[in-house]
Amino acid sequence: MRDVIRKSSNSWIVQPNLLNYDATCARFSWEEIRLELDGLPSGKGLNIAHEAVDRHVKGPKCDHLAIRWLGKDGKVLDFTYRNLKKHSNRFANVLGQLGINKGDRVFALAGRIPDLYITALGTLKNTSIFCPLFSAFGPEPLYQRLGRGDAKVVMTTEQLYKKKIAGLRDRLPQLQHVLLADVDEDMGDGVRSLPKLMSGASSEFTIPSTDPEDMAILHFTSGTTGMPKGAVHVHNAVLTHYITGKYVLDFHPEDIFWCTADPGWVTGSSYGIIAPLVHGITNIVDEADFDAERWYSILEKQKVSIWYTAPTAIRMLMRMNIKPTEKYDLSQLRLIHSVGEPLNPEAVIWGQRVLGLPIHDNWWQTETGGIMIANYPSVDIRPGSMGLPLPGIEAAIVHRLDENTVCVVKEPGVEGDLALKPGWPSMFREYLHDEKRYLKCFVGGWYITGDLAKCDADGYFWFVGRADDIIKTSGHMVGPFEVESALMEHPAVSEAGVIGKPDPVIGELVKAFVSLKQGVEPSDRLRLELLGFARKKLGSAVAPKEIQFIGNLPKTRSGKIMRRLLKARELGLPEGDLSTLETSE
Ligand code: ATP
Ligand code: MG
Repeated sequence: MRDVIRKSSNSWIVQPNLLNYDATCARFSWEEIRLELDGLPSGKGLNIAHEAVDRHVKGPKCDHLAIRWLGKDGKVLDFTYRNLKKHSNRFANVLGQLGINKGDRVFALAGRIPDLYITALGTLKNTSIFCPLFSAFGPEPLYQRLGRGDAKVVMTTEQLYKKKIAGLRDRLPQLQHVLLADVDEDMGDGVRSLPKLMSGASSEFTIPSTDPEDMAILHFTSGTTGMPKGAVHVHNAVLTHYITGKYVLDFHPEDIFWCTADPGWVTGSSYGIIAPLVHGITNIVDEADFDAERWYSILEKQKVSIWYTAPTAIRMLMRMNIKPTEKYDLSQLRLIHSVGEPLNPEAVIWGQRVLGLPIHDNWWQTETGGIMIANYPSVDIRPGSMGLPLPGIEAAIVHRLDENTVCVVKEPGVEGDLALKPGWPSMFREYLHDEKRYLKCFVGGWYITGDLAKCDADGYFWFVGRADDIIKTSGHMVGPFEVESALMEHPAVSEAGVIGKPDPVIGELVKAFVSLKQGVEPSDRLRLELLGFARKKLGSAVAPKEIQFIGNLPKTRSGKIMRRLLKARELGLPEGDLSTLETSE
């Protein structure tokens, strides 16, 4: 294990909300957290959009900046909480006029444009279901999701509609309305101008009574391990968004927060829309894609104080020879968080060295709806560890005994299935149209996450790998993350993806695909050097036996390494569902 990064009160710029982890866990109750939120006026339940927007308009946050939108071309649009309330009310009224009711599915297929955020909030107000899609999906993945998700409405742009959805209309009979954010006139066949509808709609709206268990959001998983699943979330999930915003992301009233994830993925909606707004802080939205210099200048110019990003972006920044703190004034930045994939210890240390701040890894899934295991501002970091369970969350390592029973592993350091005790507010309530698969996730009173991990004597959880990616070699179980992290410690390596390749003698052979840092040329000499380097770090049982250089690793659009694709290609097998593959590989 790497050196621990110690946290002490003299290193805090702002006193963390969570000061004493153990004491907070001991007295935690979801009922009390609920009391920190508002609930709908006159006791008519709990609605995410009320907590995120309307409740602030009643108080001193009314004219606080809620969303600052940075356009690709330099345009900036500001929305206060008061503006957001009016726009989202109008959108809710538009839905009402179109006959869209509680439970109806409203999809958004757009880049990070302001209408996307208004659609999300207005849909939730109308108690319809918000379903975000990633704008780079092609027609077939869109058909899959719109069809399986029972889409009644799609908010999109003219170009995306014409290119991707128009041709699917015959196969999507339930899709009644297409709302185009960027046209001024209706186009017929249910294709309407959203600005026209919005300008004719009232900015007054009363959120109807909403049961906390009413379905609110439908989110498709990343498709890293196979066909994406549709995870259903309810309004009560806002309790998790709220408490993770408070304890993990550490929101304080004057914070300026930037979550770089696209709302097409769960991080981009739970934390790129909901959590910061529920806390009444300023949320930065950047329309453009990753660009190292642009990102650093956003951190500087927007005075971002809390930044939530992903390992893939961090590794891209690590690859470049930019000295950010020399070139940019990042003095406002006080916390960096990461999610989506294991964060290699090297990346945590890089943050400390190059940005002056360690990177706080946290773990969760589309299914969990919010952060479940995390590194907290007040708690020591063990680089490479996902951290400690959120107060209120019971996590464990379990071994499956049979189809219906598991045993909880008490001994530290033993690998097994990472499991969570069901019942937290943002837990998915179903996989849409796939009850069998949903029920299979729950065994012996635990939700089995599909990830393998271990827990150390102090309760820190360490990611081992996805159950599907685990390599069985010469009687050992090898998690790809361990091997990838070791390779990344070599100065020439930018990223690595590790798979098991069937081998008649040892079961599976560990093979690594390695992409090199800018300016480093692949060579046989370097390959041998890396094989030796890994052997020294990992021992010969775990170290890769084969290394292949690769320009870019295949990744999902949310930035996750698709090991199943590396493996399929290596073995000449069918590639499976590629709907979420990033095409720039
Ligand atoms: P699919 O379920 O369709 O294969 P996916 O699991 O990648 O896709 P998501 O729900 O977006 O879809 O991702 C959650 C998964 O991402 C987790 O189960 C875990 O494997 C991985 N993950 C997320 N955060 C971390 C982290 N901090 N450390 C390690 N793994 C992480
Ligand atoms: Mg998954």
